Amino acid sequence: MKLNIGVIKGDGIGPEIVNEAMKVLDKVAAVYGHECNYTQLLMGGASIDVYGVPLTDETIELARKSDAVLMGSIGGDAKTSPWYKLEPSKRPEAGLLKIRKSLNLFANLRPAVLYEELKGACPLKEEITDGGFDMMIMRELTGGLYFGQRSTEEVDGLMTATDTLTYNEDEIRRIARRGFDIAMKRRKKVTSVDKANVLDSSRLWIKWTDEGAKDYPEVTLEHMLVDNCAMQLVKDPRQFDVILTENMFGDILSDEASMVTGSIGMLASASLNETKFGLYEPSGGSAPDIAGKGIANPIATILSAAMMFRFSFDLDEEADAIERAVSEVLKAGYRTIDIMSEGKIQIGTCEMGDRICEYISHRVSEN
Ligand code: NAD
Repeated sequence: MKLNIGVIKGDGIGPEIVNEAMKVLDKVAAVYGHECNYTQLLMGGASIDVYGVPLTDETIELARKSDAVLMGSIGGDAKTSPWYKLEPSKRPEAGLLKIRKSLNLFANLRPAVLYEELKGACPLKEEITDGGFDMMIMRELTGGLYFGQRSTEEVDGLMTATDTLTYNEDEIRRIARRGFDIAMKRRKKVTSVDKANVLDSSRLWIKWTDEGAKDYPEVTLEHMLVDNCAMQLVKDPRQFDVILTENMFGDILSDEASMVTGSIGMLASASLNETKFGLYEPSGGSAPDIAGKGIANPIATILSAAMMFRFSFDLDEEADAIERAVSEVLKAGYRTIDIMSEGKIQIGTCEMGDRICEYISHRVSEN
């Protein structure tokens, strides 16, 4: 299969970690008989340096023409980088908001996986995390409170601020469909999270997720109040498969879920639209403090590439191969500095990429 992949290497550690992910993509492509065609795209600080803006319309068009985009992180040190002397709409992060909006990326996926080998980094008690956990947070990304009407004005002599949380049935239907599709590739359970005891938008959310579930009879759908979900994530995270929720709840719950997994260098993410297109990137930032040192953890970006195989290309076996290779490398004791612990073998960014490639040496189906 021909895979047309847009690549935004980004800033800081971005180029280092994306290079390793491309190495892994090439390895999988060679083993499974695919062809990766890369189009290099500039965004963030790297684009400001060349074009004076964080994302050009031409770059958006090239991204749109790709089957999927792999991205490193963007941005620099806000205190020292000249990029932050520009007005906010010209700074690196503005590129991120623009690409999400332009490509209508309404579904954000963040896996929270606790690897058995890294459970020492998990702040939860061992009896709670025994055997690890593996959940996927699906957050609606373009609606709700962050995009609703807002105002700050004087009302009856008092300064009053208002934010509005709006969802229509189409927005709920399309994110629910995405959530059920993802669950079909996993353990077929969706926990839809809301605040339906208070909010109208949550009651509409339940109505249309229930409606959507009728098309997915194999998926078990349950509803959970957001306050309960926040508790359950630390009490019994193993119960979750896909957590489906609106923008603000997802913002908070996905950070909570990721914190219980350990290092930021392990956290993949994807943003999808209604087609098979997706933007795949690590959850962390550009880590200017360690850029250029060859010590950044490339695993989050490599796992994001695995998500690209699974969700944009429907190549599940290839995605499994990458995830398995990451697990094997951790099992063999190799660690970048951020996940290092006593008795393990510390390696750099490039060697981590090489080690992961070594474990993708043949098709599993050939065994
Ligand atoms: P950060 O995630 O870049 O760094 C926080 C800490 O985590 C640092 O100590 C860093 O060294 C470490 N870290 C992050 N990724 C790592 C990796 N792969 N391996 C090892 N250690 C890693 O967050 P920050 O310092 O708040 O932000 C730095 C820049 O990144 C800012 O310009 C910010 O705007 C940007 N940012 C970009 C994105 C994105 O591109 N989606 C997301 C968050 C932050």
